[in-house]
Amino acid sequence: MPAPFPLAPSLWAATAPAAPETPPLTASTSADVCVIGGGYCGLSTALHLAEAGTRVVLLEAEEPGWGGSGRNGGQVIPGLKYDPDELEAKFPGETGQRLIAFAAGTADVVFELIEKHRMDVPHTRSGWIQGAHSDAGLAEATARAEKWARRGVPVEVLDKARATALMGTDRYVGGWVDPRGGAVQPLAYARGLARAALGAGATIHAGTRATSLSRSNGKWQVKTAQGATVTADRVVVATNGYTGDLLPGLRRTVIAANSFQIATEPLSDNLRGTVLPHGHVTSDTRKLVLYYRTDHTGRLLMGGRGRFTEPTGPSDWGHLERVIPKLFPQLAGTPIAYRWGGRVAVTRDHLPHLHLPAPGLVVDIGCMGRGVGLQSAMGRAIARYLASGDEADLPLPPTPIKPIPLHGAQRVYVAAVAAWYRMNDAGVV
Ligand SMILES: Cc1cc2nc3c(=O)[nH]c(=O)nc-3n(C[C@H](O)[C@H](O)[C@H](O)COP(=O)(O)OP(=O)(O)OC[C@H]3O[C@@H](n4cnc5c(N)ncnc54)[C@H](O)[C@@H]3O)c2cc1C
Repeated sequence: MPAPFPLAPSLWAATAPAAPETPPLTASTSADVCVIGGGYCGLSTALHLAEAGTRVVLLEAEEPGWGGSGRNGGQVIPGLKYDPDELEAKFPGETGQRLIAFAAGTADVVFELIEKHRMDVPHTRSGWIQGAHSDAGLAEATARAEKWARRGVPVEVLDKARATALMGTDRYVGGWVDPRGGAVQPLAYARGLARAALGAGATIHAGTRATSLSRSNGKWQVKTAQGATVTADRVVVATNGYTGDLLPGLRRTVIAANSFQIATEPLSDNLRGTVLPHGHVTSDTRKLVLYYRTDHTGRLLMGGRGRFTEPTGPSDWGHLERVIPKLFPQLAGTPIAYRWGGRVAVTRDHLPHLHLPAPGLVVDIGCMGRGVGLQSAMGRAIARYLASGDEADLPLPPTPIKPIPLHGAQRVYVAAVAAWYRMNDAGVV
């Protein structure tokens, strides 16, 4: 797999507390469970397994939080792409209810873990606004809000005046507020999870890429790039948008799309008070979603889709820079301090996928840009499943690994659709 662009230029890498010590694996070892991938999913799995007394070794090719978990917008948004009613229709009966309860609670898991483990993570929980970019978007947002309201979530539907007041921009026709949402410094949170997992007794080896998986005599052997092997009863693969060729076909079950972000220099107090003044985080109803927030140092962070290939220079973030003064004219000319991005694994059905392709092997992939909450909660669910052996502890039914047909062509197709969406979304900002 070609090396994706580095973590270092991000705001998060520049401001996160130091990573805990996680030296590479140099000698072969054994464990009850070997977790591959040190993002939220792998780290949460390792933490919850270790808390239950399981011997767990986590292998991370680079460092904990190096993937999407250390690069994201830090917006903690509960739910999945689908509304609860749609989930009920897709998964009738108890399965659907279990999935809805899981989806409803994903943000809670993040804030509970931060509190429980006293993580050094700047965070707020002021709610998530979905801004409606059109009348159709407002109808969609209102319907979504009503579905959660029926399930007891104290949502607020916003008309244009209220959306303008809460967002600080008049470019939206309305929206809704989900009070369960919030924000974290995402790399600090990944490192906090790593520290908590180590504290609970897990072993983490950074700089240790798993290169092959094999099974003999009822045990898994996970070979690493250094040559050392982990022998384990069970293996969890949690490599998501950075999945390589460890398991046949797995990489081709998702489109690994780039999402890009920029962060301004800290705004003056006066300007800061004009942008999302009540501390909400937000994303909008455009097909090519724009997501933005301020952070605890008063910077504006703007995120959205990026080009499919790795960026080659600052102009690749130009579309996000141009959006800022359109939404917030008072910020015209504010210097951009950081530009970075990462990969989001998108599945064809826009659901996370769980696979159990062989005895003792659990695979999690696909997060659709909701991974801060989703993958934290998914790790906890996987740990519960490994303890109980009961598939009812997984939030949704496992499926076979099914590569997207003509995967290479799909990337071209998705890029073309993205260009078409960009044209059609263009009127908003
Ligand atoms: C720019 C951007 C913005 C985003 N914004 C948001 C947001 O605001 N809110 C939200 O909820 N979600 C957001 N997301 C999505 C979110 O970041 C991801 O869903 C989440 O971090 C995925 O976590 P994960 O643990 O599944 O995978 P990752 O964090 O991607 O971790 C996978 C890890 O596996 C490692 N790995 C891969 N192969 C191997 C191997 N062979 N051996 C060992 N290790 C391996 C990688 O190095 C990587 O660290 C965003 C994503 C991006 C990229």
